[in-house]
Amino acid sequence: MQTYRPPRHLLIVAALALLVGGMSLVREVTRQNDGSDLKVAEDLPPAVRADLLDAAQTAYGLFDTPQFAQALAAGAGGQPIYISRDRRAGSVAEVLERLRSEGRFLPVRLVLMTQGEANAAWHYAAGGGVGYFTQDGEIHLPPEVVAQWRAEDPVVRSCALNTLAHEIAHTVSVSPFVFTPAFTDTSLDTPRIPGRRPGESPIGSYLIGSAAQCAWLARQGRIEDAELGACVDVFGAAGFNDRCAAFGGGEPVRERAGLPPPMPGL
Ligand SMILES: [Zn+2]
Repeated sequence: MQTYRPPRHLLIVAALALLVGGMSLVREVTRQNDGSDLKVAEDLPPAVRADLLDAAQTAYGLFDTPQFAQALAAGAGGQPIYISRDRRAGSVAEVLERLRSEGRFLPVRLVLMTQGEANAAWHYAAGGGVGYFTQDGEIHLPPEVVAQWRAEDPVVRSCALNTLAHEIAHTVSVSPFVFTPAFTDTSLDTPRIPGRRPGESPIGSYLIGSAAQCAWLARQGRIEDAELGACVDVFGAAGFNDRCAAFGGGEPVRERAGLPPPMPGL
């Protein structure tokens, strides 16, 4: 009896196929979204889709800027940062590490909520799909984000970036394989963070939103770099303060009498 031996070239072809297949599998799982891997809900008007894409790409781009790092540090003011349920007292350096090297940004699909949905859910769902191969994130935005990005007033525009940067942070995973959120805060099911006094320290996701917003304002020349901390204080680091319309006359972006009251910190 003679054992069948496949011709050598067949073995080589099979080995190559396994190698290429394996490599593309790993690339699929560890694919990093740099802001270019974005989809927008297909049912939206083309102009709305284009504006959402533009705003989201702008938000992604801010994480690598020096103004963003400066705004994070100034906004945190040396306090420990609630980063996630696994890292309840982290540092600015850790936040940056999760955004700039350790974390993996999921490919994201942007969805616009109806006004009714936005009213019912004050916190816009953003999340990564769980699983080994389909880890796309989805960000649900209120309609006002598009309106804000289309506004004349740069401070109003920057509020769209706050929401986007905050929600993008929720689609960063510290594991390349199983979605493990780098930044967590509250959800509709758990409106309070267990084991924490409300507002006791900055929350990474909110700090990221306000720091991105203020970094953009600094890069636009609307505020000075030295005003980044005051700007983050206006919009909040443990929740979001809706003060978007309070600076339309070109006022300095810092606390002043008569601003809408801050929301109670989470
Ligand atoms: Zn959040």
